[in-house]
Amino acid sequence: MINKFWKNLFKKEPARATRSEPVVLRRNDHSVSRKLISANALKVLNRLHRANYQAYLVGGGVRDILLGLHPKDFDIATNATPEEIKKLFRNCRIIGRRFRLAHILFGRETIEVATFRANHDQSSPHGQTHASGMLVRDNVYGSLEEDAERRDFTVNALYYSSDDYTVRDFTGGLADLNQRHLRLIGDPLTRYQEDPVRMLRAVRLAVKLGLTIEENTAKPIAPNAQLLRNVSAARLWDESHKLFLAGHAQDTYRELRNYGLFRYMLPATQQSLELDDKDTFNQFILAALESTDQRAKQEKPITPAFLYAVFLWQPLLHRAEQLVEQGMSKNDALHKAMSQVLTEQSQFISIPKRFSLVIRDMWALQSRLEYRTHRSYKLLEHPKFRAAYDFLVLRSQADEKLNSIANWWTRYQEASPEGQRSMIQSLSGKKKFKSKRKKRRFPKKNSKENS
Ligand code: ATP
Ligand code: MG
Repeated sequence: MINKFWKNLFKKEPARATRSEPVVLRRNDHSVSRKLISANALKVLNRLHRANYQAYLVGGGVRDILLGLHPKDFDIATNATPEEIKKLFRNCRIIGRRFRLAHILFGRETIEVATFRANHDQSSPHGQTHASGMLVRDNVYGSLEEDAERRDFTVNALYYSSDDYTVRDFTGGLADLNQRHLRLIGDPLTRYQEDPVRMLRAVRLAVKLGLTIEENTAKPIAPNAQLLRNVSAARLWDESHKLFLAGHAQDTYRELRNYGLFRYMLPATQQSLELDDKDTFNQFILAALESTDQRAKQEKPITPAFLYAVFLWQPLLHRAEQLVEQGMSKNDALHKAMSQVLTEQSQFISIPKRFSLVIRDMWALQSRLEYRTHRSYKLLEHPKFRAAYDFLVLRSQADEKLNSIANWWTRYQEASPEGQRSMIQSLSGKKKFKSKRKKRRFPKKNSKENS
């Protein structure tokens, strides 16, 4: 789809901009028009202009329009400080510690407004770095040119003015867009050290936009993947949504593995994948990601709980097996393994409790779906039945033995109340089940006598 746009992106190859010689495209030389920008973003731009501030649309909003895509959000850069922005907009919240940003809220749409910032030297009190070279605060205000340089990729540093309708490029983003290149601004290793999430953004944006990560930008990623350990687990949770819930999860997962980044996000999953010589766990993950990609494209809701239940499934089974070997009952082992696997994962990507509870439910329901009894009809009322059933269907695609059980549940949901009753009745007749129940309720008569 994207390819269609590339050939005619610009009438002629744009000159490569430099900070001293920016490229300025006039209205007729680019495809950004007000019709393609959200009315709320235009409102914010106009109000800032009327108050005599500079204000530009920047980032994914400009990049995606130039590519002929629909931006998912609109970001604005201005020389007004967050406090000055707040004075202009009643519906404004100031957020962020690392970056202080203004969010202007319009019902379901939020327009993010950032004050121009500059790269800074390490002695500055406003921009602080960690021993690893990572920026922990980045609030040094700057000029428009400086703001362009502190952004991540050249294609993300294009500025559209709704005042004079120009697109400004200080870092070579237009030429890179034309050549389908994703290139970091500045020295790649330093930029990854400042913020290792840029490695994830490189992979994500390249996949989403069909760009090639330019050689010097790509080279340091694999050898420095461990820098991700410096990123907080809460930030990785947010980033993982953009990686896996935005419709390109399958390719993103493959690329994260190729670049060695995946192991620093889901180390237990990585370990299980390495032990999986038949590739079944990998196929299971790919099938799950394919189905989430489909759902994302159809704009159906997706829960991250489902994905994490998939990623951590094999680690869970391994751990439960180990605990059984140590003498624990199957059920206790499963529950203990759930807690251990989720706690260990949370050191890398923190999974909020409301999601980890759902993951536990989905896992616990698997054995209840597999070993059906005459009380199984109750499972249908379980709030997580549907997610657990989807999970079972996915498992059955990777494991033939589960086919008949998954089919049984599919038929059961489609059957009439009468049909359902007879399906359940035929289960009650199963010997295995009857003897189990009896054992629990009525211990064998002669067991006492014999002892
Ligand atoms: P998306 O389509 O996912 O929204 P985006 O590039 O707009 O892509 P945002 O997270 O919305 O991503 O960020 C907006 C802009 O802020 C980026 O285009 C980039 O210019 C800048 N930016 C975001 N994250 C970073 C970062 N880690 N380092 C430097 N600049 C960043
Ligand atoms: Mg954006």
